[in-house]
Amino acid sequence: MLQKAREILKKYYGYSSFRSGQEEIINRVLQGKDTLGIMPTGGGKSICYQVPALLFPGTTLVISPLISLMKDQVDALHSLGIPAAYINSSLDYEEAAERIRQAGRGRYKLLYVAPERLEAKGFLARMQSLPISLVAVDEAHCVSQWGHDFRTSYLAIAPFIQELPRRPVVTAFTATATEEVTRDMVRLLSLKEPRIYITGFNRENLTFSVIRGENKRDFLTHYLANHANQAGIIYAATRKEVDNLHHWLKQKGHAVGKYHAGLGDQERAHNQEMFLYDDIRIMVATNAFGMGIDKSNVRYVIHYNMPKNMEAYYQEAGRAGRDGEPGQCILLFGAQDIQVQKFLIEQSPISPERKTQEYKKLQGMVDYCHTTRCLRQTILKYFGEETVPEKCGNCSNCNDNSQLTDITVEAQKIFSCIWRMKEQYGASLVADVLKGSQSKRVKQYGFHQLSTYGLLKEYTVKQITDLIHVLIAEGYLFLTESQYPVVQLLPKAFAVLKGQEKVLQKIRQKEQVKDIEDD
Ligand code: ADP
Ligand code: ZN
Repeated sequence: MLQKAREILKKYYGYSSFRSGQEEIINRVLQGKDTLGIMPTGGGKSICYQVPALLFPGTTLVISPLISLMKDQVDALHSLGIPAAYINSSLDYEEAAERIRQAGRGRYKLLYVAPERLEAKGFLARMQSLPISLVAVDEAHCVSQWGHDFRTSYLAIAPFIQELPRRPVVTAFTATATEEVTRDMVRLLSLKEPRIYITGFNRENLTFSVIRGENKRDFLTHYLANHANQAGIIYAATRKEVDNLHHWLKQKGHAVGKYHAGLGDQERAHNQEMFLYDDIRIMVATNAFGMGIDKSNVRYVIHYNMPKNMEAYYQEAGRAGRDGEPGQCILLFGAQDIQVQKFLIEQSPISPERKTQEYKKLQGMVDYCHTTRCLRQTILKYFGEETVPEKCGNCSNCNDNSQLTDITVEAQKIFSCIWRMKEQYGASLVADVLKGSQSKRVKQYGFHQLSTYGLLKEYTVKQITDLIHVLIAEGYLFLTESQYPVVQLLPKAFAVLKGQEKVLQKIRQKEQVKDIEDD
């Protein structure tokens, strides 16, 4: 069967091999087993259900909420000579009825439908008379209220499948990998003993960089001067920040536009169009920009502020290099970014349970900003991919050739201070105590009498806080998940305190920032 699948891949799509993950999913589907594929947009999921669709007898039903995508997919299938159609609200009544009739006669190998359609009685009747071998559910996270795109109509999918005379194979896809959503997808889509495949997250043409402790505007000034003719997106956390940056860049003579939810529909559409057609080079935007954007030649995505979690970051950064040419994904980290994101979580009208979840994800993002490991490896591990290289050679950490510095003594001072503060306070208070701050809070708790008070007074509070974050990212410290997280010691820290382990860290040199700007 797999051999046949490869032949189809070659014959219809002209590709000589499956990407890792595609082959496993297809193999499993061909064995008649349910699957859940977690892969990002552009990861190559279409092939995962289209190839089995061509091998199975009968029709494959593809359920998708994205109307524009359906048309593109069907056009693409037609150009490959594969009979396919879509049915959604863009068709008038007559057209839809005709396509349903044709589908009922088994005219299509693939039929794309919006989930709302499943609830129509007439549609079910037609489908019941048809051999349906496979149902592919796109954007499967829409079935979960934990996700951000919950759609009631997705709940109709499982009952619909139940009503079919023979249960088809069901294969679902999403780019969202959190535990709650995964559990919901399996349960609410009634997947039968599904294997879950996480795949397609690696984007080899993208270079990842994190810049910490730099003046962000200076960085932009240099970077943009060296990338004047390239299209790029600069994401900022708030509308106000977008307005300020936009104003500043415009004054400096850049062809720049902006996009955020505070602008009128017309202005947003206009700016988006200008960017799409290269009339402006730089788009400064909040995360409102991007849904459904398909501009292939974006050469860089700079995050002026750290986003709220890795999912958001990777989705936004992933808008670089869609054409397969090199793209740069640069994150400019500043400590105040954490405060902004915490504030946004606190303000959002979500349950305490969800808030805890959001704080946890935020910490994953902060860890990314502080890790000294390969950034690509960090990303892929976060998303749960199994085949992850130790080093990619194409990120700011892999390319960081600065010397390892022994910071064991500093780390021991930090750990012992946290221990003496009984592991009940946040990073900034720990930093204040180590700095020897005269602040009221320090005095109030009597921390100025601790033996660790002022032990790192030669450092700035910011440097100490930074170091604490590095130690969190590297698994020495644990940060509890709440609005006021508390730092606690992990086993690795005790090993350091006992002198059994050293802490080595790369301290980034200035020149490296220049490397990133110049290439
Ligand atoms: P998705 O549906 O997950 O958004 P697509 O199926 O459209 O992604 O695939 C994204 C791109 O990758 C397309 O250009 C597709 O042709 C290409 N692609 C997918 N599978 C392979 C493969 N095995 N070999 C080469 N290119 C592939
Ligand atoms: Zn790397």
